[in-house]
Amino acid sequence: MLNSLNFVTTTWARSLEILGHTVRVFMLASAVASTFACTPAALVDSRDASSVQGAAGEPYPHMPSIAPIGVRIGKYMDVPASAQGPAVDPAKGYRLQDLGSGLYMITDNAYQSMFLVYDSGVVVIDAPTNYSAHIPQAIAEVSDKPITHIIYSHSHVDHIGGAKGLGGHPVIIAQEETLRLLKRAADPNRPLPTVTFSDQYTLHVGNQVLELSYHGNGHEPGNIFIYAPAQRVLMVVDVVFPGWMPWRRFAVAQDIPGHFAQVEELRKMDWETLVSGHVARTGTHADVDLQAEFNADLKQAAATALATTKPGVGLNPLDKANPWAVFDDYIDRVAAQCVNTLTPKWSTRLAGFDIYIWDQCYAMEQSLRIE
Ligand SMILES: [Zn+2]
Repeated sequence: MLNSLNFVTTTWARSLEILGHTVRVFMLASAVASTFACTPAALVDSRDASSVQGAAGEPYPHMPSIAPIGVRIGKYMDVPASAQGPAVDPAKGYRLQDLGSGLYMITDNAYQSMFLVYDSGVVVIDAPTNYSAHIPQAIAEVSDKPITHIIYSHSHVDHIGGAKGLGGHPVIIAQEETLRLLKRAADPNRPLPTVTFSDQYTLHVGNQVLELSYHGNGHEPGNIFIYAPAQRVLMVVDVVFPGWMPWRRFAVAQDIPGHFAQVEELRKMDWETLVSGHVARTGTHADVDLQAEFNADLKQAAATALATTKPGVGLNPLDKANPWAVFDDYIDRVAAQCVNTLTPKWSTRLAGFDIYIWDQCYAMEQSLRIE
């Protein structure tokens, strides 16, 4: 009996329902009837008995050389030439790029936005807070027309937080989900759209045309595609990052399969120049193809790691009844294997690999388990 201090350690498979996903977790437990005599103290791994609870322990076997999340990196990997773009004049704080026929990109080599000049005005597409104060100056380089319209790619403040500062009373166009999210945000720097649409909206101004369309939740609800047919320029923000690893967790995509599907959709569409909302240069179809190839490799690496990693191996026996601990240990080792699998091929092909590969592996394993 329990109080007889007779124990046997027994392992059995138990289904554990966490976050909608059933995983067979091998839990160590003390059972009652036994022919073996051992004390509870014998269950304690002496290696960890004196550990400070919550503090880092021994590294996992085969720990990647890429520093995990939260660990300071001594020197980040160099940005490959393929990810670099023309320099920004630090005195100006932005760079203006002519995309043809009155369409321009503004960038500080971290963010990107556009404006379109027509015969009696200017349409501004996004107003990133990073450099929105320079937008009037950038427009003045090529036009003396007033801003008549603003288009929001999506609701996120880093891309449109400079809208109010542009002044005037322009028509503001966005997808209806963006209106909903901006009502909730109640941010005076992001005035509410005055025109919204569900699936498609074509803006005709003078002899210029912009085709706006909604393709679902690839980044956040309401994030749209903005196509300039005459210039063959497509602007899609926070989905593909030309030359770069996406921002952490696929740019905080709320729907990873939806995000992946949108990358595939971009591959099939007909355009010449991609304005992605970030990084130092515009994108090409080769950039989108590379992103899709990375996504496929990542998905495969995470799926293999999930299938070949055993829960509970190496876990402190004291923690085996703590389901969160069992999962944390399991998922850490899945992510480590995922990082190891991808490092040889991808560490020099996408800038920022060292910064976000752990995040991408964690996002991918979670998506595969629950989405
Ligand atoms: Zn965003």
